[in-house]
Amino acid sequence: MPQSRGNKRLEKIFSNTSAKQRIGIKRIISNLFYHTTHSNLELSKITEFSIPTVSALLDTLIDSNLVQPTGQGSSSGGRKPQQYGLSKTFGYIVAVYIDQYYTHLAILSLTRQHVVEPRIINLNLYENKNGTSILCESVKQFVDDSKIDKDEIIGVGVGMPGLIDVKKGLNHTFFQDADNGIRQLLSEKLSLPVFIENDSNVLALGETKFGFAKYSQNVLVVNASWGVGLGMVLNGELFHGHAGFAGEFSHIPLNENGILCSCGKQGCLETECSATALARLAKEGIRNGKMSSLSNMRDEDLEKLEAELVIEAANNGDQYSVQILWQIGYNLGKGLASLIHLLNPEVIVVSGRLAKANKYILTPIEHSLNKYSIPRLRRSTHVVISELSKEAGFMGCASLVIENVFGHTRERFIPSGSSVPTGLLRVN
Ligand SMILES: [Zn+2]
Repeated sequence: MPQSRGNKRLEKIFSNTSAKQRIGIKRIISNLFYHTTHSNLELSKITEFSIPTVSALLDTLIDSNLVQPTGQGSSSGGRKPQQYGLSKTFGYIVAVYIDQYYTHLAILSLTRQHVVEPRIINLNLYENKNGTSILCESVKQFVDDSKIDKDEIIGVGVGMPGLIDVKKGLNHTFFQDADNGIRQLLSEKLSLPVFIENDSNVLALGETKFGFAKYSQNVLVVNASWGVGLGMVLNGELFHGHAGFAGEFSHIPLNENGILCSCGKQGCLETECSATALARLAKEGIRNGKMSSLSNMRDEDLEKLEAELVIEAANNGDQYSVQILWQIGYNLGKGLASLIHLLNPEVIVVSGRLAKANKYILTPIEHSLNKYSIPRLRRSTHVVISELSKEAGFMGCASLVIENVFGHTRERFIPSGSSVPTGLLRVN
């Protein structure tokens, strides 16, 4: 881990506590981050520390303004329990969610609220030879502009496309001019702790911590964007594979279509099922005279057409846009059928840029799965569109920092009123 600064008040809390107390504090912070509020009794069950110990730790954290009482919870009888949550002014997390063309920047509080307006940087990773320096400068400028003291920042979570070596902090596909790896370079430029992860894995973290798949242990998150990434949470853990490169769903051979893929091969899944493929199909169809609300575009505008415009047209009832979205979803479903047969997931979350197409992509996926999957396997998998939308990337980046600084949360507390049984679900 590179030498860098972090939240000074947090350091002070840790330096004044025993190793055992630090374990308890970390468990309390990560659980309050993911679940917003808990009572002393709930925190005692989750952290496996006694109620008096949790009370003492909460007193320490309240004195340090890291935790605060948030009111009384519900009760099935007897006194309503006091609830506790994290303070929104104690510390901040910088979230950097990078895709092949745009980099999204945000700063979040420990209560998961944006503390400044998020920023989008145009950064084409395929064409930009200076991508590394642009990224470093953009993130540094964003943090400087926020006027937040670096001593208040807990860490920087970065999700980026490419083959990522999380342990060494390397990206083997992009930002390769960073001599000692992109993580170390960013950490040195920002003087902050930096943690990196593949973009689709970051989405999987966001979806399993905060989205529809929050209480599921076997989840596939499809990042249907410029390519088609895949984040896998298996038995409650992010699955990286032997060398860390698992999830290259985009490049499984799907079709002998002869279309050149970004990886250099032909006919990969992403040439049929991505936002890039959607834009290509729209352009081809319109140039060949297909009737569409997009047909009136000037040639130079058509050349720059992106998937979002096609999705918008579909949402406004454009028949041709609905038709090509069906084609994209149907082919994506074919690929997902293989994953269902291999992994028997409980939930597949469709996330990324194409998720905005909602029913126009979900319906053909389901149609295709019904056609190509074994019914018993198909019935045990829910397929849903991400409900977190663009926030999934930021939430995943923030979770990456929490997981690295405060430890992986292996317990899930199922609140009353949810669709799954109430109680403590152990994930061992
Ligand atoms: Zn490919």
